[in-house]
Amino acid sequence: MQSLDQRRACMIPRSAHKLESADWQIALRDAYTQPAELLALLGLEAAALGLSDAAARSFAFRVPRAYAALMQHGDPHDPLLRQVLPVAAELRQTRGYVSDPVGDLAAQPQPGLLHKYQGRALLVVTGACAIHCRYCFRREFPYGEAVGSARLDAALLALAAAPDIEEVILSGGDPLTLRDERLANLVARVAALPQVRRLRVHSRLAVTLPSRITPALIRWLSSTRLAPVLVVHANHAHELTAEFARALAPLRAAGVTLLNQSVLLRGVNDSPEVLVALSRRLHDCGVLPYYLHALDRVRGTAHFAVSTRRARLLLHALRQALPGYLVPRFVREIPGAAFKVPLG
Ligand code: SF4
Repeated sequence: MQSLDQRRACMIPRSAHKLESADWQIALRDAYTQPAELLALLGLEAAALGLSDAAARSFAFRVPRAYAALMQHGDPHDPLLRQVLPVAAELRQTRGYVSDPVGDLAAQPQPGLLHKYQGRALLVVTGACAIHCRYCFRREFPYGEAVGSARLDAALLALAAAPDIEEVILSGGDPLTLRDERLANLVARVAALPQVRRLRVHSRLAVTLPSRITPALIRWLSSTRLAPVLVVHANHAHELTAEFARALAPLRAAGVTLLNQSVLLRGVNDSPEVLVALSRRLHDCGVLPYYLHALDRVRGTAHFAVSTRRARLLLHALRQALPGYLVPRFVREIPGAAFKVPLG
C-alpha cells in the first residue's frame, strides 16, 4: 500500500495517459457529499471534531475524492480536512461577520457582472464548485439571481459598452466546472470585444481536481488573442501534488501566466513553516505566490481568523526565509476600496 507521501507525489496514475474530459466530469459528480463518509475514510470520530449537520445544511459539504486522498488518516487537525469540514463553530454569530463581506452586491452594475476596480470586470459564470471551502467569501452569494445565459448575454452587452475594460475575469463559483465547449465559446465572445486585452480565470479546480486541465482547456485558454492568466487557489503545500505540477506544465509552456492566491486560515496555514513550504512548492510547480488574503469576514468563518498582528509576524518570517518574488502580497479586500489594501 502506498504511503500518504507517495500518494501526494504520484496522485492518480491515469495522469500519465491522455486526460479525457469525461474523467473530470465523473470525478466532479463522484465527490464526497456526506461528512460521515469522509470521516469514516479517515478513521475519525465526528463528535471529537465538532462536526455539525446544521452547518452542513447552511453550506453544503462537497469534497472531491482525489482531494480527500491527500488527507492524513487519523489526523483530526489535517489542514486539508479543516478547510472542508462543517463544524459547530460556524453557527456562532460574531460581530462584523456578514453575508457579503467584500461588497459584491453593491459592485454589480447588473447581476453576474462585478465592477470594482479600474479597467477590470468580473463575470460570475457559475455558482458550482468542485469543493466547498468553509471560509468561502461567496458562500452566501445569490447565484440564482446572477447566473444564466440571459444574464451572461446582458453582461457581455454591458462590457461591449465599456471602453475602459481591458481585463475580464471569469469567476464564480468555479468557472472551470463548466465544460470546455461553453468556456471556449464564452472566451471567443470576450475576445470579440476589441478593448479587452487580458483574460483572467480564477479557479480552485487545478488544485482540487488536476484532471480538469484537459487538452481542450489548454487549447481555449492558450489560443485566444487575449493574454491568459490562470489564478489557482492553494492554501497548503499538501494540496500541490505531482499531478498538479504535470497538469500545469503545458499551460505554462503555452504562455499562460500562473499565479496563486491563498487565504490565511487559522489551523490551516498560519505558521511560517507552512507558508514557506507553500511558496516553495508553488514555485516548483511553475506558479508565483500572488496574494495572501486576510480572511473575508463572511458569517460562520470567525474561527478561521488570524489577527493582523500575527499575520504581519508571519509575513516578516516569510521575507526572511524567501526571495522577494516568493513572498505573496498580504492584502484585505475592503468594500468600496479602489484596490486590495496591503496589510503588511
Ligand atoms: S472553490 Fe472558491 S468559490 Fe468555490 S467554495 Fe472554494 S473558495 Fe468558494
